[in-house]
Amino acid sequence: MESSGGRAEGSGRGPRVLVVGSGIAGLGAAQRLCRHPAFPQLRVLEATARAGGRIRSERGFGGVVELGAHWIHGPSQGNPVFQLAAKYQLLREKDLSEENQLTETGGHVGLPSVSYASSGVSVNRELVEEMASLFYGLLDQTREFLHAADAPVPSVGQYLKKEIRQRAAGWTEHEETRKLKLAVLNSFFNLECCVSGTHSMDLVALVPFGEYTVLPGLDCTFPGGYQGLTNHIMASLPEDVIVFNKPVKTIHWSGSFQEASSLGGTFPVLVECEDGACFPAHHVIVTVPLGFLKEHLDTFFEPPLPTEKAEAIRKMGFGTNNKIFLEFEEPFWEPDCQYIQVVWEDTSPLQDVTSELQHVWFKKLIGFLVLPSFESGHVLCGFIAGLESEFMETLSDEDVLLSLTQVLRRVTAPDTVCRGSHTSLVLLHHARGSAVWLEGGRPAHRSVGPTGTVARALALSPASPLLSPAPPLQCHREADTVLSSDRQCLSWLEIWGC
Ligand SMILES: Cc1cc2nc3c(=O)[nH]c(=O)nc-3n(C[C@H](O)[C@H](O)[C@H](O)COP(=O)(O)OP(=O)(O)OC[C@H]3O[C@@H](n4cnc5c(N)ncnc54)[C@H](O)[C@@H]3O)c2cc1C
Repeated sequence: MESSGGRAEGSGRGPRVLVVGSGIAGLGAAQRLCRHPAFPQLRVLEATARAGGRIRSERGFGGVVELGAHWIHGPSQGNPVFQLAAKYQLLREKDLSEENQLTETGGHVGLPSVSYASSGVSVNRELVEEMASLFYGLLDQTREFLHAADAPVPSVGQYLKKEIRQRAAGWTEHEETRKLKLAVLNSFFNLECCVSGTHSMDLVALVPFGEYTVLPGLDCTFPGGYQGLTNHIMASLPEDVIVFNKPVKTIHWSGSFQEASSLGGTFPVLVECEDGACFPAHHVIVTVPLGFLKEHLDTFFEPPLPTEKAEAIRKMGFGTNNKIFLEFEEPFWEPDCQYIQVVWEDTSPLQDVTSELQHVWFKKLIGFLVLPSFESGHVLCGFIAGLESEFMETLSDEDVLLSLTQVLRRVTAPDTVCRGSHTSLVLLHHARGSAVWLEGGRPAHRSVGPTGTVARALALSPASPLLSPAPPLQCHREADTVLSSDRQCLSWLEIWGC
């Protein structure tokens, strides 16, 4: 195999390190390593023509829209994304305030500004608050099982449904109200599926669910776009460190490879790209999404990963999240409205969906976030996760627009004119989904340990030529991704004696 990694960067001292993927995990690792004098030989191989991965801001509808990550969750001092964003002066004054940083949200999404039922009426606010309190109370209770030797049921979904079934048995209201309560709860299940990036909470293991650390701080956004963060990190790297349009095909990680252009030393790793280019290295840091790893596990590593690592990849779940942007000439919502919840009255978390997806996919939508007013229009952003989200990917933007215009006309505004729509599908080619969780609920996965255990199983020994900034620690949110790459890089530097 011919190698093309012959350029000796910097002074040529120190190990040669390759980073695969230039999402925030790859960029974070590269930034940390580049800052260290012992790492002049660094390359980042990126499959696409841009850096940032699932962080992608575009100009659209007369403003900035986030096709991928939207919020900094828990923006406070313990959050490295917040720290970086503050350092680069990318946040608003109020989001930097101590008051904002100290606000405890419990990690839960705020209440909807308004809830519309599918029959066109708005749902009583008190009923929505009561169901939100029940749902999030039960979700908090799942933390009790974190260190339990035995869980009552395998998955978060099964636990929530068991508890809801018990409570619903005691509801004394009229049948219609009881049904509406379940429909509202179903909407909260859909929301939680978006937060966890899963098709169903039944797929998310109960015991490790509480491992996610919730940081204080009221979620905030980037006025100029999230991508400002990855652009700044990229700008801090030496020129030409990132090689674009270089999809990696196979990582040969246990050999002795020579550089084609020199008779110098040998390297334990050879990274082979789709176009035939090969890059020899001492170490490779793999930051491709878990969904990609799952799909290409049999061919991506040569030799195959040890059984324990391969099992860790198989046992973690990875799901699909999508956004849909709808543009209106005139808003039909109130000026202070932030989040419009849509409640399908014929749904219940206690009933499985049996209809074909083409007829019901839009019922998985959590509703719409109202984006700040843009100069030329008013924009709503819908969120949808799971198989319904994947089904939506098979539809044209026109079909999505048609379905959602019908939904909106039905639930709230009969005369709504939706000017255009845009989905975030463009992200998915190399991202393969959006969030990581630990599978549970299926018999084969019941013995899975806490996420951290599986994560540690996947993170390879720092002495190994093949490294991962613990992709499973990408759980849900990218703050963890940067954090884990940063910590991991520090530990590698230490072990390599740098
Ligand atoms: C719609 C959506 C909304 C989200 N909202 C939020 C949010 O509000 N807040 C939040 O904190 N998080 C959010 N997330 C999650 C967040 O975006 C991700 O957790 C984070 O960006 C992942 O970063 P990463 O570097 O680990 O992976 P990625 O960003 O996926 O980067 C991986 C990189 O590897 C490249 N790659 C893939 N295969 C190869 C290959 N074979 N060779 C070379 N390169 C390869 C990809 O092109 C990509 O650039 C959201 C995600 C989505 C999809």
